[in-house]
Amino acid sequence: MISDSESWRCRAARSVLGVALILSWGIHLTGQTDSTGQYEFNDVHFHLTNYVQEGTDINDFLQIMGTKVGRVALFGIPLQQQWSFQNSGKFAPTYYLQTDAPLYYYSFTDAYIAMAYRSLAPEQRLRFDPMITGFDPADMYAADHIKRVLRTFPGVFSGIGEFTIHKEFVSSKISGETASLTNPALDRTLDFAAEAGLVVLMHNDVDVPFPKEGAQPAYLDQVEALFKRHPSGPIIWAHCGLGRVVVPIKGHVAMLESILSDPAMRNIYFDISWDVVARYIVASPETVRIVADLINRYPDRFLFGTDEVAPSNQDKYVKIYYQYDPLWKALTPRAREAVRKGNYERLFDSARKNVRAWEEAHQKEPARNAAPDAVP
Ligand SMILES: [Zn+2]
Repeated sequence: MISDSESWRCRAARSVLGVALILSWGIHLTGQTDSTGQYEFNDVHFHLTNYVQEGTDINDFLQIMGTKVGRVALFGIPLQQQWSFQNSGKFAPTYYLQTDAPLYYYSFTDAYIAMAYRSLAPEQRLRFDPMITGFDPADMYAADHIKRVLRTFPGVFSGIGEFTIHKEFVSSKISGETASLTNPALDRTLDFAAEAGLVVLMHNDVDVPFPKEGAQPAYLDQVEALFKRHPSGPIIWAHCGLGRVVVPIKGHVAMLESILSDPAMRNIYFDISWDVVARYIVASPETVRIVADLINRYPDRFLFGTDEVAPSNQDKYVKIYYQYDPLWKALTPRAREAVRKGNYERLFDSARKNVRAWEEAHQKEPARNAAPDAVP
């Protein structure tokens, strides 16, 4: 259950935040793109490929988006599930829960996504915001990988993620050093994202599975400290920090509000993607009311996403959007518009502009890897 609790920090921050909201709403009204006016939503969280790097052809996916979905943050999955003959014999696992064999970082995903994007006509490209995911967040060289991808495929990427720090059943299966919120490699990655203007989409369960009743979520202090060390670029906390068995903790809404109301974390956003999260939120009229009340007070800080992986048809792809019907009804028109479309457009319009400027300014540095048809 999600429990309600008005944060003591909230009231003081609300008037300051109110001014900021009015200002940013004003910017949105005069905004750069209204390309998605005819669509139902933009999708901030979408995996074109699965854990064995297979998925939906991007042309088929455009058909699946149809007239329902305007823009999509496009990425694969940074991890490849190994098919270990020793472990599963002739059974070829396609999901991490189907085998004990490890997962490993698969950097080629970024080239695959870039080439899929480049295969589209220019007006079709406008509907995608590709993201870089093929790096190991425990590697001090992760930021260098991201730079190399930007230089090799200029004009393509607008963000990094979804990458994962703590995730139930996944983190422990990854070969090599375990990722951590306290690892300077992650700081280096986030520093570079802010420098280049990349949107960050990070998955981090706020707690371990099956925690001790009443204990503070295991990673709350660390994640807040991380956010406070990186106050400039937009960071989206995927799934509001929840997992399949990392269920809404008592006071989860209060925890979100303590971040939302803290001016030191004003660049932190939340996505409500994943059908598991939708089930928590629409569990009862009470949970809907509590969450809608929070979003209505911080409408510019939440984004809708599907978290679908390589969907085969539109019904499957947009199912979670309709699952959220009770929430859409409970939001103010202004919040409904912001969560479904406006916040996405504001963040990614700005990222497109900033990342293109970074690429322009840095293209001459080590140009040796740049592709000849670099600028679309
Ligand atoms: Zn996730």
